Amino acid sequence: MQSMPENSPRKTVAVVGGGVAGMSAACALADVGFHVSLLERRGYLGGRASSYLHPGVNEVIDNCQHVIFGCCTNIVGFYERIGVANKIHWTSDMTMIEPGGRRSQLGPFQMGPIRLPAPLHGMPALLRAGAFRVADKLALARAFRGMMKPGSLSNSEETLGDWLRRHRQTEGAMNHFWRLVIASALNADIEHIAVPYAAKVVRELFMNSAEAGSMGMSIVPLSELYDGAKRFLEEHGSCVVLNANVEGLSWDVLSRRWTVTTRTGPVTADYVVMALPFEGLQKLLPGLPQAPGVADLAKQLEQHAHWPICSVHLWFDREITELDHAVLLDREIHWLYNKGKLQPWRELRGSYVELVVSASREFALLSRDQAIAKAMNELAEFFPVVNTARLEKAALIKEVRATFGVPPGIDAARPGAISPWPNLFLAGDWVATGWPSTMESGVRSGHLAAEALSQAAGRAQNFLVPDLRPQGLMKWLR
Ligand SMILES: Cc1cc2nc3c(=O)[nH]c(=O)nc-3n(C[C@H](O)[C@H](O)[C@H](O)COP(=O)(O)OP(=O)(O)OC[C@H]3O[C@@H](n4cnc5c(N)ncnc54)[C@H](O)[C@@H]3O)c2cc1C
Repeated sequence: MQSMPENSPRKTVAVVGGGVAGMSAACALADVGFHVSLLERRGYLGGRASSYLHPGVNEVIDNCQHVIFGCCTNIVGFYERIGVANKIHWTSDMTMIEPGGRRSQLGPFQMGPIRLPAPLHGMPALLRAGAFRVADKLALARAFRGMMKPGSLSNSEETLGDWLRRHRQTEGAMNHFWRLVIASALNADIEHIAVPYAAKVVRELFMNSAEAGSMGMSIVPLSELYDGAKRFLEEHGSCVVLNANVEGLSWDVLSRRWTVTTRTGPVTADYVVMALPFEGLQKLLPGLPQAPGVADLAKQLEQHAHWPICSVHLWFDREITELDHAVLLDREIHWLYNKGKLQPWRELRGSYVELVVSASREFALLSRDQAIAKAMNELAEFFPVVNTARLEKAALIKEVRATFGVPPGIDAARPGAISPWPNLFLAGDWVATGWPSTMESGVRSGHLAAEALSQAAGRAQNFLVPDLRPQGLMKWLR
């Protein structure tokens, strides 16, 4: 049984869910003096962005490579708060590879001190890129122009697919950019993506500034980052309770306190933050007290749907590529991460690469052997050395509930931090943050819930880290 200090003058908070949303809310609140108990049903923190010892390969691996970008100011702020920001490797280069091996390099222009103002910084590399024909580049320029102005598409109810057809996108632009880079950033088919979300990604990653589009990858397993969150909470007189599956919550009107029933016993608290994925909240809803607005919340939850992400982890007896990551064109495997290079502490004799397949419901249906064989065959088309290398071990991780989709109209199904219940706040990547299903959205939701809670407690605090300001010509487009 977990107990909160009943007579403590500090207000107590139970945060349910130890993903990035819950961790960021918990750390923000502990930072300003709340006594927080972070309750997580699993034996480790991280939720959909975690790592563990995989028994099949006897290695600690991430459930999938998680990438952040410079524009993800809140996850960066969270990493700074818990002292792990130095464990992120940042890069601005993106190598696209075609089957057969031809490479195109995207990234911001820089020659000595000379840089180009945003949004032109990526233009020279795009113009040189062999992966796009001239007609593709013109089509992309046309689409980027249409997405350039913040707010211009915010009321659009169109799907990205329809919008792209209206903007006369070529097959090359569709296959090598929209169906690959943008569909995997949003982890959904272009026919199921709302245009405003795609426009946001295009502006943040390719137009607003070189800094906003730079890409960050952890040099340690994800769970090692969260040791920082546990340490931070303990140093601030708070705690993490693992293996604490929350089964129900009740509100005591007289004492104005919540009792959270967990598998390991009850926890009482003045405030609760529910930092669960939408299906997790949906499951607990019948056990929550009746209140006006609960039926509406239930309807919102029903609107959400999942998209899968699969990752194939391969250990070879030799190096497959000198690149630390790459985008693979025209095949089912989309992204390559050279984990041995990104995480040199692994001291591999050969190499360890991870291949990521986003938004493919077909790939998620393959068996382990089929998926690994397919990944190996396709990888050999990009790197012929795979044909002669020995595969030492392999793992397939299927996350069928990886992300929620962002189809047109989804914003109406994303509630804010304020819930139908007193002193209970909502977080999770699916709540209203304006961001797609990402760690940034999770952390933003955690910071927003912490802001709403601190305000309700009469100690209003700002936790949301502001966006990066657009640079160059983009700053005039506000
Ligand atoms: C394969 C994959 C690849 C991804 N790639 C990227 C990427 O490259 N970049 C990026 O930004 N995002 C990526 N994402 C998305 C990102 O992981 C999520 O958006 C983010 O982690 C969501 O965080 P969250 O805290 O909102 O939810 P979750 O991570 O789902 O956290 C919720 C937590 O609540 C716990 N929980 C559930 N029910 C209960 C209960 N009853 N009691 C107690 N605890 C409970 C869960 O165990 C979990 O730990 C990826 C996701 C996946 C799965």
